[in-house]
Formats: sequence, C-alpha cells, structure tokens
Amino acid sequence: MKKIAVLTSGGDAPGMNAAVRAVVRKAIYHNVEVFGIFGGYAGLISGNIEQLNLGSVGDIIHRGGTMLLSARLPEFKEEEVQLKAVEQLKKAGIEGVVVIGGDGSYRGAKALTGHGIPCVGVPGTIDNDISGTQYTIGYDTALNTVIDAIDKIRDTATSHERTFIIEVMGRDAGDIALSAGLAGGAETIIIPEENYNIPEICARLKKGQERGKKHSIIIVAEGVASGPDIGKQIKELSNIDTRVSVLGHIQRGGSPSAFDRVLASRLGARAVELLLENRGGRAVGIQNNVIVDSDITKVLSEIHHIDLDLLRLSKELSI
Ligand code: ADP
Repeated sequence: MKKIAVLTSGGDAPGMNAAVRAVVRKAIYHNVEVFGIFGGYAGLISGNIEQLNLGSVGDIIHRGGTMLLSARLPEFKEEEVQLKAVEQLKKAGIEGVVVIGGDGSYRGAKALTGHGIPCVGVPGTIDNDISGTQYTIGYDTALNTVIDAIDKIRDTATSHERTFIIEVMGRDAGDIALSAGLAGGAETIIIPEENYNIPEICARLKKGQERGKKHSIIIVAEGVASGPDIGKQIKELSNIDTRVSVLGHIQRGGSPSAFDRVLASRLGARAVELLLENRGGRAVGIQNNVIVDSDITKVLSEIHHIDLDLLRLSKELSI
C-alpha cells in the first residue's frame, strides 16, 4: 500500500488524537502517504479528505477530542451509502483505512473491507465495551475524571451527611461505574451486568446509618437507570433523601492520561503495520500488555465481559 487514510467515528474519546498522530507518523516513517478523513463516515461520503504531513499532527498528543472530528451517520448501514464511500476512497487512490472508534464504527470498517477497501479497527471509546482488547483508548482518562468527581462530591457528602447518587457513562457496559466505584470507595455500585435490588441497597444504607455512618455514595451506570430514577426508588421504599449528580459530558473530554497516550500510540502504529501487511478486516487491542489483533467480525460477535469479582470485592470493602 502506498496511500492510506485514517478517520475517527462515534463518540470522541481522549487519546484519539494520540492514535491519529501514531497512524500518520508511522505511515510516513514507512514512506506511505496518509490522508485524514474529517467527520467520520459522513466526511468520507462528502469527500472531506486531506493529505496529512508530519506537522499536521504536531501538538495534539496531549489534547482530548479528535482533530479529525467525529460524526454519526446512521445511513452508513445501507450498502448504497457504503458504496459511495468506496467510490470516494478509490477517487483519492486510498488503498486502506484505519478506523478509530467503537463497535458501530467497527461495523462500518467491516462493511468497507467487504467492499474491497481493507480497514483496521482501533478501539477508541471511553466505555471499554469492545471485545478483543482489555482496554479501549479513552477509558483510563474517563475513569480518572470520574474518580476525581467522586472525591469532590464525597467532600460535600461528608460535610452535609448525605447520600449521593452519581450517574456515570458507559453505554451498556458497567466498566467505568465498577472501577470508579471501587477506586472511589462507593458504598453501592449499580451496573448493567448484574441485577440491582433496591430493598438490599436501602438495607445497606440503613445498616451504615445504624453504625454511625452519615454519608454514602452510590454509583449508577447510565445503562441501568438514571440517577434521579434510582433516587426516587430509594425515597419511595425507605424515605431516605438523596442528592443526585449526573456527570455527563465532562467524562468524555480532557487531556488523555499517560496510559491512554501510550496505548493509543501503540495501537495506532500496529494498525498501520497490519495495513502494510495487507491484513485488513482486523481490529487491534491489548491483552496483558501485549498488542494483539483479531478478526473484526469475531470481535463484533463476541460479548464484552466484565470482572464481577470487582463488584464482590467492592461490596466486601464497603460494609
Ligand atoms: P461507536 O463507534 O462509538 O460505537 P456509533 O455506534 O454511533 O459509535 O457508530 C458510529 C458510526 O458507525 C455510525 O454513526 C455509523 O455511521 C457507523 N455504523 C454504525 N453501525 C453500523 C453498521 N451496522 N454498519 C455500518 N456502519 C455502521
């Protein structure tokens, strides 16, 4: 391959820029021309494609968001729209694409590969919900943002002797809630991977109060219920008042952590190597600190698992 492209798609995640930088610099290192597709699959369809050079990706390694912009284009599921993308890529002479994003973006990459444009997926999402990798780019940064928020809310919870419910992101996965809850010392963690039980949560709160505990933190993953909804259920059953904090989009932004920058650099570079080996239809990942790659179809068909031992541990430590 002599010409490749890179795009970011779906929800932005801190570290996407570091991955773009790695793709661009690694390609140029191997004397391959590299193009940026601006605005995800929507930008690809409209031909928003520009050649990038070493300087194009200067001064971005520490920035959140994505310099390539991101977008959602639901119509990309349709074959005729995908074929328009293939046409744009062929017109620009692009032979392979690195797609940085979540599982939706991977489905687009799989479709393009099927239409003869080899693509490699790089996991970029704060949700950590992609199979084939232990960590996705952006997860560690988001986790640290959430922990920082929990620490701050804990100050108020302690000062006012209150129970706080903190709603965190993660789509259908409980990774952020679980690890942030454990690291933030939350009394209760509610995640989609395990049924929650309001009477049990209320009993724990009451038991804590009886032993003199005046404040409490409950983390709820957005994939289960909203924070206000959980607060309402607790009030109805036990008459305990809660305060709710929905962290929202602050979880997606910010300067990527060292972990995410290193991960993004390694994964982006490996994705380029795979394209140069003409091995499209793969997705890169990290397992036990080794960079690996898997069939993108397999990755999309597997269910992402969470370590429920962490939930049990959190319960044991917050008695
Ligand atoms: P993420 O990549 O973070 O999971 P989305 O689910 O929003 O985010 O997907 C990003 C984009 O990927 C979508 O807007 C769409 O353009 C494309 N996409 C999603 N699902 C498919 C699919 N089944 N086939 C082709 N493209 C898809």
